[in-house]
Amino acid sequence: SIAYVNGSFVPLSDAKVSVLDRGFLFADGIYEVSAVLDGKLVDNASHLARLERSVGEIKLKLPETVGRITEIQKELIARNKLANGLVYLQVTRGADTGRDFPFPKGDVKSSLVMFTSEKDIVNAVSAKTGINVITVPDIRWERRDIKSVALLAQVLAKQAAAEAGAGEAWMLEDGFVTEGGSSTAFIVTQDDVIVTRQNSNAILPGCTRKAVMALAEERQLRVEERAFTVAEALAAKEAFITSASSFVQPVVAIDGKQVGGGKPGPMATRLREIYVEFAKATGV
Ligand code: PLP
Repeated sequence: SIAYVNGSFVPLSDAKVSVLDRGFLFADGIYEVSAVLDGKLVDNASHLARLERSVGEIKLKLPETVGRITEIQKELIARNKLANGLVYLQVTRGADTGRDFPFPKGDVKSSLVMFTSEKDIVNAVSAKTGINVITVPDIRWERRDIKSVALLAQVLAKQAAAEAGAGEAWMLEDGFVTEGGSSTAFIVTQDDVIVTRQNSNAILPGCTRKAVMALAEERQLRVEERAFTVAEALAAKEAFITSASSFVQPVVAIDGKQVGGGKPGPMATRLREIYVEFAKATGV
């Protein structure tokens, strides 16, 4: 497939950045992942708004305008004839002349790379069966609202999940679920309230989270933003996760204990349908 690297479209296997790139040396960079459905970007304005916020929080300047970034994303989709999948985008503080912690002093341009991958999110088997999650301690830094490429804690969490045959790891802090390794965590209470943790520095403000909450509220469903425990999730009617790369996926077990009778529940199923409809109707 074709990748984009700092102004050029090149085969992914030839796409390279310097060993001095600060993304490589310090994880000094930000990323975004947008879904592609029927060749169109899903909720992309929301992802690029979060990108602008993330880069602002680490004082990193985008090398292109958001308008130009959108054009590059679209050109990459076209060049790869991508119908369904993901566009990955990463911007780092570029390559300085050596390995110095403070920002480059000279006029070093931020590095921008993008590539795509195929994924049939709508027809994923795991959306029908539901997924198992395991819980792990949340060992990340204190600015999880920034979509930083420093993902070692999530690499370890998701590896532990993979080894346990689970589809996601839910991270725990002070007895409460923060979020999934690469997703937002939700439960549905016995009286049908959709619960997800409030946005703060403790979690990434999910774009899918935001869209699903708005779509639910439009349909007069009750949504509550607050932290919840694993015990509460196990006693809940349903649990599910959201992310750009999976939309809405039911959670049917936590640490080997069934949730919602071990089957995808009606609320997660309905929210998934509503989100897919939204994604199809609003793609650009
Ligand atoms: N939380 C974390 C830690 C993530 O990495 C992600 C996505 O990668 C999400 C939540 C979900 O965010 P979004 O819905 O914007 O994909």
